[in-house]
Amino acid sequence: MEIVINQQKIQVLIIRKRIKNMYLRVVDKTTLKLTCSFHVDERQVLRFIEEKKDWIETHLKQYDSINGKKYIGLKGPYIYFYGNRFYFDIILSSFNDVLIDGNRICIYSLKEDEDYALHLFYQFAKKELEVAIFDLKEKWIKDLSVFGFYDPSIHVKKMKGKWGQCNKVKNHIDVNVHLIHFDIRCLDYVLLHELVHLVEFNHSKRFYQIIQAYMPDYKKYEGWLR
Ligand SMILES: [Zn+2]
Repeated sequence: MEIVINQQKIQVLIIRKRIKNMYLRVVDKTTLKLTCSFHVDERQVLRFIEEKKDWIETHLKQYDSINGKKYIGLKGPYIYFYGNRFYFDIILSSFNDVLIDGNRICIYSLKEDEDYALHLFYQFAKKELEVAIFDLKEKWIKDLSVFGFYDPSIHVKKMKGKWGQCNKVKNHIDVNVHLIHFDIRCLDYVLLHELVHLVEFNHSKRFYQIIQAYMPDYKKYEGWLR
């Protein structure tokens, strides 16, 4: 079944099971999955979707802002690191450490557990990104000093649904650790984006004019993160 939400065509996959209630899940930006019983008809489905419209819109929007999902986390035996694909090797060990060896990211781990190894990887990624940010931000701070702000504190953490966020009052920026999976220019763009928010809070015309002036090809990186 196909529906239209905010002028966008959305596919609704209908799964029938021996259940009483209807359940809705957002699969991706253009697909919903609805699970219902065998005797629910199309009219009831449409009414259910209509009732859930706000919920659907909110969830689709999340996919709008962060849809580099195909690069985040483990991808079978692989993981993306600064835009390149590496083997993700878990090596049971008496210590925890992460080493890059050729096309392999070796996770020396106390536990032979994938989630635990991934957790170690993100700890490593956080440190990596902190070092990268320290280098990258220098030129932006210098360039943007004409707008009169001083060096904000920047923190790398796991976030859902956004690549970065800023707090003007606290002069603070948070950057999503998942940026480790993308080309470093994406990190640079997110950094600039959040720094400019300290000058211009909203995504106004002026906001994008400033971004454009400092990073003329920013749309490319925005696209990569979509
Ligand atoms: Zn923004």
